[in-house]
Amino acid sequence: MIPVTPMMRQYKDIKKKHGDALLFFRVGDFYEMFYDDAKTASKVLGITLTSRSKGDNAVPMAGVPHHSAHTYIHRLIKAGYKVAICDQMEDPEEAKGVVERDVTRIITPGTLTDDLLLKDKDNNYLLAIFANGESAGLSWVDLSTGKFQAQDIPTTQLIDEFARLRPSECLLSEEMVTSKGEQPFASALNAMITPLPGWVFARDTAYQTLKEHFGTASLEGFGCESLGPSINAAGAVIHYLKETQRTSLKHISKIERFSNQDYVILDRTTQQCLELLETMRTHEKDGSLLGVLDQTLTSMGGRLLKQWIISPLKIPEEIRYRQDGVRELFKDSILRNELREMLKGVYDIERISTKVSCARANARDLVSLKQSLAVLPKLKEKICTCASVILKSLGENLDPVEEVRILIGTAIVPDPPHTIKDGGMIREGYDQDLDELHHIRKSGKNWIANFQAEEIKRTGINSLKVGYNRVFGYYIEITNTYKDNIPQTYIRKQTLKNAERYITPELKDYETKVLTADERAKELEYDIFGRLREEVSSHTKRLQKTAEVIATLDVISTLAHVAAENGYGMPEITDGLELNIIDGRHPVLDKIMDNFVPNDVAIDGAQTMMVVITGPNMAGKSTYIRQVALLVLMAQMGSFIPAKQATIGVVDRIFTRVGASDELASGQSTFMVEMNETANILNNATNRSLIVLDEVGRGTSTFDGLSIAWAITEYIYEHIKARTLFATHYHELTEIELLLPCIKNYNIAVKEWGDEIIFLRKIVEGGADKSYGIHVARLAGIPREVLDRAKTLLANLEANSLDINNKPKFVPSEDKKTSASGGPAQLSIFAPKEEGVLQSIKELDIPTLTPLDALNKLNELKKKLST
Ligand code: ADP
Ligand code: MG
Repeated sequence: MIPVTPMMRQYKDIKKKHGDALLFFRVGDFYEMFYDDAKTASKVLGITLTSRSKGDNAVPMAGVPHHSAHTYIHRLIKAGYKVAICDQMEDPEEAKGVVERDVTRIITPGTLTDDLLLKDKDNNYLLAIFANGESAGLSWVDLSTGKFQAQDIPTTQLIDEFARLRPSECLLSEEMVTSKGEQPFASALNAMITPLPGWVFARDTAYQTLKEHFGTASLEGFGCESLGPSINAAGAVIHYLKETQRTSLKHISKIERFSNQDYVILDRTTQQCLELLETMRTHEKDGSLLGVLDQTLTSMGGRLLKQWIISPLKIPEEIRYRQDGVRELFKDSILRNELREMLKGVYDIERISTKVSCARANARDLVSLKQSLAVLPKLKEKICTCASVILKSLGENLDPVEEVRILIGTAIVPDPPHTIKDGGMIREGYDQDLDELHHIRKSGKNWIANFQAEEIKRTGINSLKVGYNRVFGYYIEITNTYKDNIPQTYIRKQTLKNAERYITPELKDYETKVLTADERAKELEYDIFGRLREEVSSHTKRLQKTAEVIATLDVISTLAHVAAENGYGMPEITDGLELNIIDGRHPVLDKIMDNFVPNDVAIDGAQTMMVVITGPNMAGKSTYIRQVALLVLMAQMGSFIPAKQATIGVVDRIFTRVGASDELASGQSTFMVEMNETANILNNATNRSLIVLDEVGRGTSTFDGLSIAWAITEYIYEHIKARTLFATHYHELTEIELLLPCIKNYNIAVKEWGDEIIFLRKIVEGGADKSYGIHVARLAGIPREVLDRAKTLLANLEANSLDINNKPKFVPSEDKKTSASGGPAQLSIFAPKEEGVLQSIKELDIPTLTPLDALNKLNELKKKLST
C-alpha cells in the first residue's frame, strides 16, 4: 500500500475535529470533499463523484469551484447539513511543504449571516436549552442581527416557547440528547439538534464564557445576574458561536432578559389554530394574520411585526402607548405616506451592520448602508414634530449616524463591484498612494500611444502597432510587408500568418511598472476597505439602535396603513373583564370576501362570561370564534381592528382548541391529543384568559363528545371563570344556559326556504334547535336516496333521545338538579358514583337495621358521594 500523502494526513486531522460537518477542503481553485462527505455531497448536489488515487488507495472525492461555493453551501444547509470551510492559510507558492490549512468558519442552520441563506423578514434563531428538573433555561440569538436573549421558564412551557421562537438549530447537552424524552419536540418542530458536551453547559463555565465575551465583571449591567438555568444555556450559545464563527462577535453586545410574563402567552396549538404566521394546512403566509398585516417596508420592520403578533402585550398602558402612535399616523395620511415613502429607501441596517462587524460586508453593503442612513435626517425631522409620545421618542432616539454616512460617502464609489479583491471600490482623492498607483496605470495608456508614435516615426513603418495579450504582455506588431525594416533592437516573440510580434527592453520595463501598479492598487484598496469596515464597525451599537427605531416606526406606520386601507377602528383597552365588539369582521376573510357579514360579541365579564355557539355545519361558527380571538390579539398588539367599536379588557393568555376532525390526523390518537390539549387549558387558564373551543369533544362518539363538552363547560364556569367561546354542533349543549348563570347561547341564523337553507352568517342570541346536517349534505350533492334515508333515521333517533318533556336526555351533575331543566335523571351518563349509591340503597334490608346502623349507613353513603 502506498503511504498516505501529507495533504491527506492534514485532511484527516482536520476532519477529525469536525466530524458532524461536511468538510470543504480548499485545494487550488476548488473545495474538495473526500470519503463519505464526497458521497453525501455528490448525492445532495448532483456533482460527480470521482476518486483520488487508484486501486486500494482510491479515495472518493467530489469538488466544487471556490468562486461558486456559496450556492452549493446554500443547498447543503437547506438539506440539513453543516459545512466546515477549510481554507489555505498561506500562499501555496510560498509554502514550504504542504500548504497550511485551517477551518475558517462552520456554517450551520442556526448561525447564518449571508443574505442568500436568510429570509429578509424572518429571524433565524439558534436556541440553547438547559433543563434542570422543574425549571428550564432558554437562550437564543439571531446571529444575523446580534439580538441575544435569555429566559427561565417552567419545563412544562418548553414546547410553547419553542413554538414561539421556531429556532432553526437547537443546542442541547449530550446527556439530554441521549436520554431521549427531550428530543421529540425538537424534531417535531423541524430544528437541527446539535449536541454539545455537558461541561459547556456547566454554570461556572457558562458564566465565565459570558463575562469573557462581554468583557464585564458580572452580568449585573444587563439585569441578568440573577438568571437561573438560562445562564447555562446562554453560555453554551456563546461557546458554540465562538467555535463555529471564528470571527468577531462584537455585535452581540448585550444579553437581554426576556420574560413571557410580560406578554400574552400563546401556546403552540393556539398559534397554529389562529393561523397567525401561516395557514394551518398549507403553511403559507398568504391567508394568515401576518399575510393581512404585513405591509412593512423594511426587513427590520417585517421581523418586528412577527414578534408583535406572537407576543401581544397585556398591560393596558403599554398597549395604549402603541395605539397612540398608530392613531396619529392613521389620521394623518399625508405624514403617513411621507414616512412610508422614506422607509422604502432603508435597507436592512441591522443585518448589514452585523456583516460589517463580522468582516463579511462588501463595498456594496456599505453603499446600501450609506443610502439608508441618508434617509434618516429628514425622517427624524418629520417624526420629531409628532404629537404622540411613542413617535416623538422614536424621533429623539433615531440616530442618523452621520459619521458613517460621510465616511462611506467619501471613501467608496457609488456603484462598487461585489468582490473586494479586484479594486474599483475606493473613490479618487480618498487615499494619495492609491491615486498615484492609478495614475501610473492610466498614464500607461498615454505612454503606450506615445511610444507607438515614436516608433513609427523612428522606423518609418506606418502599420506598426502596440498590442497586449495575456501570454506575452505588450508587444509590437509589424506586418510582413515591412519585414526588412525591423530595427536591430527588436526581439522577435511570435510569428503570425501575415505579421510578426516583437518586444523591446523599454517596452517590457514599462509593462512591469504598469502591471505591478495594478496589482499594488488592488492590494491597497483591499487594505483601505478593511480599515474602513473596521472603522464603521466601531459604530455597531449605534447602528443597531437605529435599526430598532426604524423597525418600530415601520411597524407602527404599517398598522396605521393597514387600518386605513381596510376600514379598521381603534379598540378601547381596559383592565376589566369585558369583551364587547360591535360589527367585528374576520381580518383574513374580510379581505378576501366582498360580503363578509360582521358580527358582535357581548361578554361583560359578570352577567355573561361564556358563550355557547350552535348552528349547523358551515354556518360560520369556527370563523366567528376565531375572529373574536384574532381581534383581541390584534388589539393587544396595539393594532386597530376590523370592527366598528370595541371595548376589550386585556387577556393574559389565549387558548384555542379545535376538535379533532378539523385537524390533520397525526400519529397519536387524535382524540387523545384533543383531550391532552384541553387538560392543558383547564390547568393553566386564569380568569383573565380567553378560551376558544371549537367542537371540542367531536373526536369521539356523540354521547361521549357531548358529555365531555358539557363537563368542560361546567368546569370552566366553576373553577376558572374565564371568558370563553364554545362552538359546537351539539345543540343539546345549549341546555346548559338554563342551568348556569353567566352562560349565553348564541346561534348562527339560518333561514329555511322550502327544502333549502340559507346561511345568514348572523350571530343571534339563543340556541339553534335543529341540526341542519342533512341539508348541508344535500348542498354538497349527496344523492337523494341517502338523504331520505338519513331523514328517517334522524326522526327515529330524535324520538328516542328526548325525554318526556321533549328535552334531550341529559342531566346536570347532582348539585344543580333543582334548576330549570327538571326532567328525570338518566344517571348512566353522568353519574356512575350515584349509581353505586343507589345500588347500595336498594340492597339495604331496612327491617334489620338499628337506628344507629341507619345513621352510620347514611353517613357512609354521603361520604361515597362526596369523594
Ligand atoms: P362552521 O364552523 O359553522 O362549520 P365555518 O366557520 O367553517 O362554519 O364557516 C364556513 C364558511 O362560511 C367559511 O369558510 C366562510 O366562507 C363562510 N363564512 C363564515 N362566516 C362568515 C361571515 N360572517 N360572513 C360571510 N361568510 C362567512
Ligand atoms: Mg367549524
